[in-house]
Order: sequence, then structure tokens, then C-alpha cells
Amino acid sequence: MSLNAVSGLPAWIDTVRGFLEAEEAAALYDAALQACALGPLLEIGSYCGKSTLCLGFAARSRGATVFALDHHRGSEEHQRGEMFHDPALFDSEQAQMDTFREFRRNMDRAGLGETVVPIVSHSAAAARHWQTPLGMLFIDGGHSLDAALTDYRCWVGHLRQGGLLAIHDVYPDAAAGGQAPRAVQRMALASGLFTPREQAGSLALLTRF
Ligand code: MG
Repeated sequence: MSLNAVSGLPAWIDTVRGFLEAEEAAALYDAALQACALGPLLEIGSYCGKSTLCLGFAARSRGATVFALDHHRGSEEHQRGEMFHDPALFDSEQAQMDTFREFRRNMDRAGLGETVVPIVSHSAAAARHWQTPLGMLFIDGGHSLDAALTDYRCWVGHLRQGGLLAIHDVYPDAAAGGQAPRAVQRMALASGLFTPREQAGSLALLTRF
């Protein structure tokens, strides 16, 4: 099933670079619709904006806001010589990845300029003075254990009661994918602050008590 079959999303979303399955997109969209009643949504790890579109279209329909946080220099696995490197996103003049150009192009195409607020930054730096309570936190940034746990620790305290924590790339089987997102899920459940809500593909959704 392609993403454009998900209601609320544009037909061209399948052409957007990124890693998101249709059932994950649908779950993300529905979760965002619900969570944006509680507060703005924050996504960590936007890449070219595929998942941002899911959150953004849901938020726009409710007059809500999505903060889209990414340093746009690519995660470990996007660097040159790594498995998920895309040469089209490499800025040869700067000799580094630059996904922001493509991200902005996609947000413009979607008309989400008044809904999606990009934050071009590392996660910890952006969190340092953050004060706004969130309706939803979507963690899909760096997949090293250090990066994933930093994202969780920096932002989880800003999630409102009843708010949703979404974690992408949670694989029970280590052969299917890296285990850092699963470690975040485990930590969230062990904290006693969350109850499982739904698993859609590799997207885990938890509700903050
Ligand atoms: Mg992901």
C-alpha cells in the first residue's frame, strides 16, 4: 500500500524521500489529529519531511503547530559510504549533507508554511531553553543509542499529561533493525509515565499518564 492511500495525505507524498510505511503514516496522522488538541507537536529527525507532512496535514486541519527539529546534516547512516547515503542530498561545496533544502521544498509544496516551524539545530541545544508543553513528541532522530537516549531525555519532560510519545523504527527482532529506538521505548515504559497505545509497523505509540 502506498502512502497516498492514507486519507488526509497528498498523492505526491510517495515521491518524497524518506523511510515511512503506509500503516505508520496513517497511525502518525491519526495520533497527530488527536494530540494536537493538547498542544503543539514536536518531531525530532525530519530528514526530507515525509513524516512531517503526516503531522503537518493533521495539524493544519486543526489549526495546530508542528515543530520540526533536525540539524539537517544527516544521521550516521546517511553519511557518505553508509548504507542510507543519498548523493542527491550531499552538498559538495560544503562537503556535508544538507537535507534542509529538500525539506523546505516539500513544506512549500504542501503549503505548510504556517503550520510547520523548522528548527535547524541539534536536539540538546534546541531543548536547553525550551518551555512549551507538547501534545506529541515524535522521536525519529539519530539511531545510535547515545543520540536516541539524548532525544528522549531532553524532551520527554515537556510532554503533557495525556500526550503521545511516538517512536519510529522500533524492531523487536535485532535482525530487522537497530535497537536504540527499542531501548527508548523500554525506558519510557520502565519510567512508569507511559502506557502502550498502539504499534503500527515499526512505529510505537505510547500515552503519557
Ligand atoms: Mg525513522
